[in-house]
Amino acid sequence: MPTPRSPKPIPAEPTSTLSDEEIYQRLIEAIVDQRLLPGTKLVEDKLGQAFGVSRTRIRQVLIRLAQEQVVTLQPNKGASVAEPTVEEAREVFEARAVVETVLVQRFAARAKARDLKTLADCIEAEEAARQTGDKTMALRMSGQFHLLLAEAAAHQTFARFLHKLVSRTSLILMSYTPVEHLRVAGGQLPQRWVQACRCEEHRGLLTALRSASQGKGGTDEAVRLMTEHLAHIEASLCFNQAETAGVDVVQALAKPAPRRRRAPAR
Ligand SMILES: [Zn+2]
Repeated sequence: MPTPRSPKPIPAEPTSTLSDEEIYQRLIEAIVDQRLLPGTKLVEDKLGQAFGVSRTRIRQVLIRLAQEQVVTLQPNKGASVAEPTVEEAREVFEARAVVETVLVQRFAARAKARDLKTLADCIEAEEAARQTGDKTMALRMSGQFHLLLAEAAAHQTFARFLHKLVSRTSLILMSYTPVEHLRVAGGQLPQRWVQACRCEEHRGLLTALRSASQGKGGTDEAVRLMTEHLAHIEASLCFNQAETAGVDVVQALAKPAPRRRRAPAR
């Protein structure tokens, strides 16, 4: 039997290359990509080592993440990735239904051909990732669909709010997806695969949005499809169980996620 290799030491990154915003984004991406699981301890020293920055800067980022309810800060216990309660989970889906209804309506009213193409490309990327077994990319693209729609809807307040809700949705999916749907891949880092969205529902939504944006009607249908889509995700969860697993935070952050695709400048 081969001896398991010890993990390679992670080189510290020069302080000057990472801003607090970039550290914040890297942590959010690690959570959305399910590399940091709910309940994972976020030790300031380890994070400082992973990012090559001081504890003081890490603390500032953790405070910001705690304000967004993605991280829990407890006196004398430090920080950990938040473990949403059932009540919080239901609130997040309720909030998403309200916010995304408005975003869908605004998108339908103002979307240009390039916005529709951006969404279509995102669905293609998600499907391609699923076919090649790139679970991290598939998951990221499924969340990205909602964020791109929000960006094109041009409602900055709701778009920012949705970013936070999508991050928290990722934590909810990791906490409450039924155990039989979780698969453990090989490698040193257990990767639990949670499917957030269904591609065919995104595709149906895009069809309704295309029709609406071309003045052929379809806004109400698009709102209905989005509401159903979110309800389906919530209904797929099992709120009787909450499973968490320990993760080495330094390893989880060692492989930075590629930059998110952004919608073209308007
Ligand atoms: Zn979706």
